[in-house]
Amino acid sequence: YQNQVKEYLDKEPLTADGERISIGLNIGSVSPQELEGARYTDFAGLFRSEFLYMESDHLPTEEEQMVQYKKALLEYAPRPVVLRTLDIGGDKTLSYLTLPKEENPFLGKRALRLCFDQPQVFRTQLRAALRASVYGNLWIMLPMVGSLEDIHKAIFEEVKEELDRENIPYAPQVKLGIMIEIPAVAMIADLVAKEIDFASIGTNDLCQYLTATDRMNPAVTEYYQSYHPSMFRLIGYAARQFEQAGKPLSVCGELGGDPLAAPVLVGLGIRKLSMNIGSVPIVKRALSRLTLPQMEAIAQQVQNISAGETAAYLKESFAD
Ligand code: PEP
Ligand code: MG
Repeated sequence: YQNQVKEYLDKEPLTADGERISIGLNIGSVSPQELEGARYTDFAGLFRSEFLYMESDHLPTEEEQMVQYKKALLEYAPRPVVLRTLDIGGDKTLSYLTLPKEENPFLGKRALRLCFDQPQVFRTQLRAALRASVYGNLWIMLPMVGSLEDIHKAIFEEVKEELDRENIPYAPQVKLGIMIEIPAVAMIADLVAKEIDFASIGTNDLCQYLTATDRMNPAVTEYYQSYHPSMFRLIGYAARQFEQAGKPLSVCGELGGDPLAAPVLVGLGIRKLSMNIGSVPIVKRALSRLTLPQMEAIAQQVQNISAGETAAYLKESFAD
């Protein structure tokens, strides 16, 4: 079985009836081992830039960041690298940055909200990313977007103008997108799709906020239901809105790398899944075994039964 799965690593990701699904890689560093995954994937669907900050004992400079972003961009060029801006706070802290003490850090000043509070940190990262953009195909993604204002407040255009004034080159076609991981923004997918170039659904946080279950708290794991019918309904809704708007939408949370859930996501209309390297062969294999109409039928079903029933049904029908 292990060997059979491994064989799928460099196979083209196709459903049984030949629909091409795009498979992305989630990366948490730019080490050569990690970037080797570029050979087996179509794009880097989630570059978690926090690692750069967490491994450093000081705020990484523009230059330091640029060098790292460049590595990923060169490796994937001309294929896209989706660089997520700093997602700190919640469970992740930095020794050199004093974060506010909060009762509920996951509901507090996290990610984009911290960047709005510390514009110099945000600006440095955007400058580094834009400067690196000349080496490949850069898509910049904002985490924890909760409203239209959050999109408008991102200083992307401002930083581009600043670089223009300084005669510093960047690729003109850099895309700006968001993570859909706060239910409030998933529910206005039609409105946000008009404002941005692309989006990616972060199912880890989407599930945490949708089910009101702390993703880090082992005492409530049973309530963290990523197969909750509301998850599938909401993802299906977002997929339809982005399809209508003609903008790319991917899934980059754990659900996308789950071989049982991946066909459901495709059935809901998602055509781009990004995941850790370990999931790539098992997901490619899972997709190859079902036709699109079969996936659509499963996707219909799981929107109308409980999470427990979905788990049992998917395991019974497709786990092996
Ligand atoms: C997510 O929330 O699903 C996600 C991909 O981001 P992270 O797990 O880094 O919060
Ligand atoms: Mg998240």
